[in-house]
Amino acid sequence: MHPVYLDNNATTRLDPAVLAEMLPFFTQHFGNASSIHGFGKEVGAAIHRARDQVRALIGAAQSHEIVFTSGGTESDNTALLSALEIQTGRNEIVTSAVEHPAILALVQHLQRHRGVTVHVIGVDGKGRLDIDAYRAALGPKTAIASIMWANNETGTIFPVAELARLAHEAGALFHTDAVQAVGRIPIDVKAADVDMLSLSSHKFHGPKGIGALYIKKGVAFHQLVRGGKQERGRRAGTENAPGIVGLGKAAELALKRLQGGGCERVRQIRDAFEIATLGRIDDAFVAGDIENRLPNTSNIVFDRAEGEVILLELDKAGIAASSGSACAAGSTEPSHVLRAMKVPYAAALGAIRFSFAHTSTDEDLGRVLAKLPAIVEKAREASGFAATMGEMAQAGLGAGVR
Ligand code: PLP
Repeated sequence: MHPVYLDNNATTRLDPAVLAEMLPFFTQHFGNASSIHGFGKEVGAAIHRARDQVRALIGAAQSHEIVFTSGGTESDNTALLSALEIQTGRNEIVTSAVEHPAILALVQHLQRHRGVTVHVIGVDGKGRLDIDAYRAALGPKTAIASIMWANNETGTIFPVAELARLAHEAGALFHTDAVQAVGRIPIDVKAADVDMLSLSSHKFHGPKGIGALYIKKGVAFHQLVRGGKQERGRRAGTENAPGIVGLGKAAELALKRLQGGGCERVRQIRDAFEIATLGRIDDAFVAGDIENRLPNTSNIVFDRAEGEVILLELDKAGIAASSGSACAAGSTEPSHVLRAMKVPYAAALGAIRFSFAHTSTDEDLGRVLAKLPAIVEKAREASGFAATMGEMAQAGLGAGVR
């Protein structure tokens, strides 16, 4: 029996059509895009096409607003470091407590070693940003506000357009880490009026190690990687042409899926999974903003159970899920996202993230539902944790349980 993959927020399977598009760029079209001969020109043309495919997916006005990078992490680092260089006299960053380490580890470093003041804004029990605290943190010293479009663990979607407007009113730039949102929900950078946006190809069935930073036309920019004049002097280094071509194709296919209602099909399968799971397993709730989250993400907290045990048992049954962000795998600390949402420690340890994709099937669902109740029961017996549901109800958590 083939394994069931429900960890699409960690990474996705490369689409065979994407691979087919990439392969000739390893062998036949191997030129360097900077070369003036035919080998270089054909690669240059392919990169040009890919830039436009990415532009279309996020609704950017011009393809030159897209700069290719090595992925989400580099895009995030580049955006924040650029803003600090450009925004002279402004030495503060506003961000959220539930960002990915690609932002949080960087701002911690900047705070400790570069004297940058960082305002980390909290969230409520559903993972929604404290907008009043965000507004209050913005000021004449803010270089940039960086808030994710959607959270990688709970799928909670942030009101990016409003957050960008508030940042702009304070004279600050606004960046969004849209790594989990791009390709899964419609994105329109013009409507949201963000200055910079990070995306990563491997989250929407493209190859790993390639991503992009959108930089709105007219926004001043300071490059991170120095060297040659590639990417109009904004990111040096010979282009990863197969990766870029793959990202472009993945973007084209993701846009087609979004326009064809693919998002709704994923939502239906995710919702069916949640309703069936909560119907069969007591003392469990869905973490995050149930009304406003990514259609593919389901983070379920199983009270009194140890998530790691559930994951190992699922793995034995050929089912892949995650206990939080991929980067936290192997650590026994509960997720920083759930802790920021004030989910009690012992309950947060029992959180499992199931993340679906258009490739998920009803058969996958049936297999998980057949195994999960017994696995949770076993993990509860093993944990010896006391119930925290009462504590959670008091904190207003789990109120949105399906
Ligand atoms: N930002 C978010 C929200 C993510 O989920 C991830 C990956 O898990 C990243 C950034 C890092 O992206 P990449 O793996 O392309 O460096």
